[in-house]
Order: sequence, then structure tokens, then C-alpha cells
Amino acid sequence: MSEMFEFGARDSVLVIGLGRSGLASVEVLRERGVSVYATDEKAPGELAEPIATVERLGARFVPPAGVDALAARITSAVLSPGVPPTSPVVQAVNRANLPVVGEIELAYRFCKAPIIAVTGTKGKSTTTALIGHLLRACGMNARVGGNIGNPLIKEVIGAGEGDWVVAEVSSFQLETIRAFKPRIAVLLNLSPDHLDRYYSMEEYAEAKYRIFANQGLNDWFVGNLDDPRIAQLHWRYGENRVQARQLWFTLKEHEEWATMFRRDGTLTYVPVAGDPRPVSLVGRDAIALPGQHNVRNAMAALLAALAAGCEPAGLRDAISSFRAMPHRLESVSEIDGVLFVDDSKSTNPHSTIAALSSFQRPVILIAGGRAKGTAFDELGAAIRRRAKAVVAIGEAAGDIVRAGEGVPAIRASSMEDAVRRARELSAPGDVVLLSPACASFDMFASAEDRGERFAAAVAALREPAGA
Ligand code: ADP
Repeated sequence: MSEMFEFGARDSVLVIGLGRSGLASVEVLRERGVSVYATDEKAPGELAEPIATVERLGARFVPPAGVDALAARITSAVLSPGVPPTSPVVQAVNRANLPVVGEIELAYRFCKAPIIAVTGTKGKSTTTALIGHLLRACGMNARVGGNIGNPLIKEVIGAGEGDWVVAEVSSFQLETIRAFKPRIAVLLNLSPDHLDRYYSMEEYAEAKYRIFANQGLNDWFVGNLDDPRIAQLHWRYGENRVQARQLWFTLKEHEEWATMFRRDGTLTYVPVAGDPRPVSLVGRDAIALPGQHNVRNAMAALLAALAAGCEPAGLRDAISSFRAMPHRLESVSEIDGVLFVDDSKSTNPHSTIAALSSFQRPVILIAGGRAKGTAFDELGAAIRRRAKAVVAIGEAAGDIVRAGEGVPAIRASSMEDAVRRARELSAPGDVVLLSPACASFDMFASAEDRGERFAAAVAALREPAGA
């Protein structure tokens, strides 16, 4: 598929960042006989394992201070998504005027299969996994990778021309693309996030818009018509920023410009080819995921699957067998009529607002952590509308309590303490919802770790006191 330069035995590449994606890039480049150097700015003590892997793969580790001297000997650099473009190592490579590509660009250049790429502020993993699920259920070979956990480059290597690669891509990854051109691009939503890294919301949106920048007339773009920043890309506005054929979804009952909408509660699709009469696809009940936001995710996934050639009839059965992913509104336990829900992957106010709107029963919200430069006013309004009480944790605890002023709130010192206190505040029929609206790194190793600690604390509630 790629007519761009190939990486081969004459190339010498520096891989920057030795997380999972960086190590996968080292491995794939080495398999192609490329000379590989690798560097990482983490403290040497944390690097023993990745350095051993790099050396086992026949590549050389170079400390950041050595990159300037190395620059004359390399032909390009591969940047891991976690490394900011402002880092001294990247600047050293830029000074040497060398091409820098991200891991997804590298993957694209090796990829024989068409790519479905999914981005947005929230819902990427859920929608990416759901598209993979739908395609497989329709008999296609789909490989899922990217930001979702397994490096895209690994998935791409085994994919043939008749397969599909479904890729979750973050705004950070999109910053470094050059030729990356998905056959189908999905843009879910845009809400304030990562404003500690982006200068403005506009700059953040522009990074996300890169997902369709290289698309042509034979590609597809799937967009959310209910998100004003995305809806302005619709062809009717004449901006012409999206070259691909456009498929739009809305939660509204009917919208003239939408390809998928709801009619009498049923997700309804207007075929873009052949008979244009609307087709009833699936009822809301067929989607076993809570919340309106998940109906949007499902619509996006269904449109992508239809664009990939799935038949509507096959999609009906397929969607009903998809379950919530771990830490995304995942029900972990019900104790004496109180439902405990782990939504630890909610790392900004937007997803916590979505979580609060997903339950028809009283909610005790556990929230807080490390804020990412986002405001909490709208979250405060949602707390007042939906929450019975708040248990605040982490660095942002004070901000969360202030935002939800008027709703009973307490602070907790640990996850165990938070769960115990939430339990004390709860009555049968309530939901205890961990949906932090913040990053986890002030108290936990990751959002997954935070969710696991929550589940363990919930499990401990079942143990007899003093045991
Ligand atoms: P991402 O990969 O973009 O972080 P996930 O599917 O992993 O998205 O979900 C992360 C968090 O966002 C979870 O708390 C989930 O419940 C919530 N979420 C999922 N989809 C949406 C959406 N469309 N709008 C708002 N929040 C969402």
C-alpha cells in the first residue's frame, strides 16, 4: 500500500522512547535488517529491562547525551507516542535535520491491509474494539492495535491485503504522521483534555483533524454530527477540509444530513449506495453498554463496519454480543443492592459527565486525581444534577468538592478509604461509581491500577470485619 520510502538494510534508525511501542519498532526494524539505535530519557535505573531487550534484538542503546554525536550516523528517527516533541532528544534530531516519524506512520508504511483509524477525546478504545468485533463477526479478518494496548506495528506486520487493521490513534500519535492515510477515519468527539500539552482547544482539535488529512475521494470519514467542532467539517458547510466520502451519525430522532439516526428508538441507517430508503439496523436494547455516549460509539462503529462492507443483517447479531471493556463503566459487584461500577478510564470531566448520565439510580461518585488543566464547572453542574454524594480523592479533591458545592462531599485518603466511605453513604438501589475525571498518576501507577485497587477494595467489603 505504501509508495513511501521503505526501511531497509542501508538505513540507520534511532528509536526514541523504549515503552511497548518503541520496543516493537526496534524489533520490526531489526527484522528488516535496519541498523537500530535506541534512546530513552528515563533514569538509567528504570531502563535495565528495555536496554537488555534492545541488545538482545541486536540494536544499540545510546544515552540521551550521546544523541547529538550519533546524529551524523543515522538516516531517520522513530518517535514513541509518549515522548513530547519538545524533549531534548527530539530537538537534537531536529537540529540534524533528520526525518522523524511516529510509530503509527512506521506501521502505515509497512501495512498491506486497509486501515480503519479511530480517534476522539473519549470512546476510542471502546469503538476500536467494537469495530474489530463487528468485522470479525461478519467473517472478516480484523487486527486491532494502536493506543488500545498492543502496538500497531505488531498487528500490521501479519496483516495481508484482504484483512483489515483497526487502529486506535491518539492526538499525540497524529501529530507525527506524514503519509498515514486510513481507508476509514472515525472522529468521535472533541472535548477539553490534555490542555497541559496543547496551547488551546483549537490546537488540540487540529491534531485530531490530521486523521483525515491524507484521505482521498475513495476513502471514508465517519463523524459525530452532535459535536459542534466536528459537525463544522460537514460538506454542507463548504469547508472542503474532508476529501473522503462522509458518513454522519446523530442521537437525534431525525437529521436531514445524517447517515445514521434514531427512529422510534431504533438505530436507522440511510444507505449511501443503492436503494436510499432508511434501513432499521438495531434497537437500543441490542447494545449491552450503558449510557447515551455508548450509543454514539456504537453508531460510529456500525458506520465504519458498513463502510468496510459488512451486511446490515450480520451487524444486528454481532453488536449484541459486545460487552463493556474493563474500567469503562464496568459493573464489578453488587453488595446488598448497591452496584459498584469501575469507570477508572474516565480521565477527564467529559467522560465523568457521560458516566453520571448513564444511571437512572442515585449515584455516589468517587472522583479526583491529577487534573490536566481542564475546568470542572460543567462537571459540577452534572454532580448537582445526578449525584447523591461525592467522595473526593487525590490532588484535585479540593477542586472537585468546590465544583459540586451543594452536594454532600467528603475527602478520602486512599482508594480503600474512599470505597469504605462510599459504602457507608449508600443505600440499597444506589450506584457507587468510580469515575475520577482526572489522571491517576498522583496516587496510582495507571488508570488500570486505580480500577484494580477499586475492585479489590470492593471485594474487601464482603469480608467479615476483623477478618
Ligand atoms: P479512550 O480510549 O478514548 O480513552 P475508552 O473507550 O477507553 O476511551 O473510554 C474511556 C472513558 O471514557 C471511560 O470512562 C468511558 O466510560 C468513557 N467514554 C467512552 N465513550 C465515551 C464517549 N463517546 N463520550 C464520553 N465518554 C466516553
